[in-house]
Order: sequence, then C-alpha cells, then structure tokens
Amino acid sequence: MAKVQVGIIGAGPAGLTLALILQKAGIRSLILENRSKQYVINRVRAGLLEQNTVDLFNELGVGGRMRREGDEHHGVYLSFNNKKIHIPFGEHTGGRHITIYGQQEIVKDMIETCAERGIEIKFEATATHIEGVETDAPSIVYTEGGAEKVLNCDFVAACDGFHGIGRKHLPKDSYQEFRIEYPFSWLGILAYAPPASDELIYSYHKNGFALLSMRSAEVSRLYLQVTNDDKVENWSDERIWDELDVRLDDGAGFKLNRGEIFEKSITPMRSFMIDNMQHGRLFLAGDAAHIVPPTGGKGLNLAVADIRFLSKALINWFEKGDDSGLKTYSEDCLRRVWRAQDFSNFMTTLMHKMDEHGSYTNQLQKAKFDYISVSKNYEATIAENYVGLKEI
Ligand SMILES: Cc1cc2nc3c(=O)[nH]c(=O)nc-3n(C[C@H](O)[C@H](O)[C@H](O)COP(=O)(O)OP(=O)(O)OC[C@H]3O[C@@H](n4cnc5c(N)ncnc54)[C@H](O)[C@@H]3O)c2cc1C
Repeated sequence: MAKVQVGIIGAGPAGLTLALILQKAGIRSLILENRSKQYVINRVRAGLLEQNTVDLFNELGVGGRMRREGDEHHGVYLSFNNKKIHIPFGEHTGGRHITIYGQQEIVKDMIETCAERGIEIKFEATATHIEGVETDAPSIVYTEGGAEKVLNCDFVAACDGFHGIGRKHLPKDSYQEFRIEYPFSWLGILAYAPPASDELIYSYHKNGFALLSMRSAEVSRLYLQVTNDDKVENWSDERIWDELDVRLDDGAGFKLNRGEIFEKSITPMRSFMIDNMQHGRLFLAGDAAHIVPPTGGKGLNLAVADIRFLSKALINWFEKGDDSGLKTYSEDCLRRVWRAQDFSNFMTTLMHKMDEHGSYTNQLQKAKFDYISVSKNYEATIAENYVGLKEI
C-alpha cells in the first residue's frame, strides 16, 4: 500500500496548485484523477485569472507560457440598453489587473511541471471512498485499471470538483448548504474569430444578456443568456452571430468579427456552497465546496485562494507541528467565498434579463447602471472585486 503525506483527489486547478506548493516545501503528495490526461488538458472552462492567481502561478514557476500568451486586461466594459461604459481597474486598485488565459492552458502547464518535478498524478484513477478521517492515518480507496487500491496519507485534500466524493464524507450535521438556481443558462461558444474588443463587454439587452470574452488574439469566447430548457441544437451558427450582434450593439456601429465556431455548450447558472470545508483530516477546496455563476469570473480564482490557506496550514503543521491554520481553514476560506458569492450575484443580477423589460426589477437594474456610470466610488467597488481583493 502506497503512503504519501497528502493524498489529493482531483487534477483541476485546486489539486494541481496544492501539489506544486507542497512539493516546493518538500512535502510529498500524490494526485488521483478519474479522467484521462487528454480529457483534463482539453476541458474548456474558465479563462479569467485574478492578479493574486497570476502572482501565485508565477511564484510557483508555472507562469512562463501564461506571461507570453496570456492577455493583460486593465478594464472592462459594461453596456445597458446599448449604452456602454468603461470600468478602469488600475486607478482604483493601485495598478492591479486581470489576465485572460484559458483554464485548460494553465492546467496543461501545471501537469507538465508536475511531471518535471516528480509529482505523481495517477490519471484514470477514481477515488471511491475516504476512510479514517477522524484518525491520524486516513486513506483514499480508489480504482485503477479495474483493481481496487488504497492510498494511505496523513491528510486528504478533496479537490474533486462539484460532483466529487469529498463533500459526501463530511458529517451531514457539520454544515449548512446554500443554493441558488438562476432561471437561465449560458450558451457559450468558442470561435476562430479575432475578438472585436480589447476588453470584455458585459451587455444587458431586452432580449437577454450577452458577453464578449476572448481566449487569444485569434479566438473569441462569447455567451448568450438562454432559458434553462434551451438546447444547443436550437442555435445554428448564423442565429448565434445574429443574436450576439443584436445584444452587443452599442448604437455606434460596433460589429463582431465572425468565424468558425468550434465549441458550443450550455451551462446552467447557479450558486452553491457549504459553510464548513473540513472534518478531521479531510479538507475540501475549490468547486468541491462552492460554485458561483461565471459572471464574476471567480470559480477558478476561488479554488486557488482556498489552496493558499490549505497549503500554508499544512506546511506549518508538517514543519512546526502548528495546527492553528488547519483549525481555522474553513473560516479563513469562507470570508473570500462569501465575497465572491456576493460579487457574482451582483454581476449576474445587474446584467441579466431578470424580469420583463421595463418591469420594476428592470428599472432598478437600470438605476444601478446609471449610478455606476457617474460614480467613481461605485466604479471602484466593481474594479476591486473584479481584479480580486488582496486582503480578504
Ligand atoms: C462548463 C463550465 C464552465 C465554466 N466556466 C467558467 C468561467 O467562464 N469562469 C470561471 O471563473 N469559472 C468557470 N467555471 C468554473 C471553474 O472552471 C471552476 O471553478 C474550476 O475548475 C474549479 O477548480 P477545481 O480544481 O476546484 O475543480 P475542477 O476543475 O472541477 O477539478 C476537479 C477534478 O477532480 C476530478 N474528480 C472528480 N471526482 C473524482 C474522483 N472521485 N476521483 C478522482 N478524481 C475526481 C475531476 O475529473 C476534475 O479533474 C466553469 C465550470 C464549468 C463546469
């Protein structure tokens, strides 16, 4: 039976970041990942990295390609009923900014670095249950190549995403669950088309929300608000482009660049979290404990923020026998999780079609937008949340 100091479930941003930080501190970990390596490095998801996240990837020595190929953004556009305003980041945040770099790219970079540094990742190895978390010797039972195996460890880090097994191993009475299912989804596309804007554009339109984002100078990432029962098959490429043109119109001749669409999917918009992320020697991080709608670009960044706390707490325990960080782990993470829940909810309810156009709710949205467009203080609130607060 194998033994490591930290058994990690999941080779997503959370699990990989944790393994790399621990390795730097001389702590041995092993990652179990139920998908194949090919699947994990091609999985298209987030693309917006906060300054804190970028700084950590650079400290870990995995940021080389991100610095070369990623795109720094120093502001964002918000548009409401075709009126577009710009929120600059730098002047409100002491020069902080965001970087656009695909999640699958940083995951690929981290997996390659793990291989170079001798961190073992077992792909197509599925954790099935976690045992002994109330003892000093927990273990992860997993299946690999049809055989059942056991990984013994001092601690278990469940970085296994929303559908993972980690959360199921917390005692039911140890947490409260919070959940919002929004009554709409995002139809997202990736297209070989140069982005028509240098920065992201969030747009409220009476037909629904649209977002212009990007992955590179050649690839646009675009989204449309659709109903929860809508299907990808209902959206021909031409219908998507036409609707994006309508919803992103700024009344001043703005036009999208069209190109071949090579990815099309529908993602439900929801928030979920639990208010306890640990039990005994088991610690949850990232989507395993919380998800937010992608409007605020926070999912991946929150996963990495959890790992900052978890890695520091584990290092202090292994190096000094100090368990204070482990004891306050949930509390430390939850401050930022709640901040991100609030900001994601704010961006979602400000920019989506929440009710009939012209309704009371819609007039409140517009009143908020009009306020943002004249208030430097409101602009600052959005800017500092968007790039990610340093302190919380
Ligand atoms: C379709 C989609 C689109 C998204 N778009 C955005 C976006 O635009 N912006 C944004 O900020 N966020 C977005 N997110 C959220 C963001 O991608 C996540 O917050 C981020 O991936 C969280 O990282 P993680 O490491 O916690 O979890 P994950 O990336 O989910 O990694 C968990 C890993 O654990 C593995 N695993 C699960 N169960 C087991 C098991 N039993 N045994 C072994 N391995 C297991 C999984 O295969 C996976 O590789 C999106 C998420 C999804 C699903």
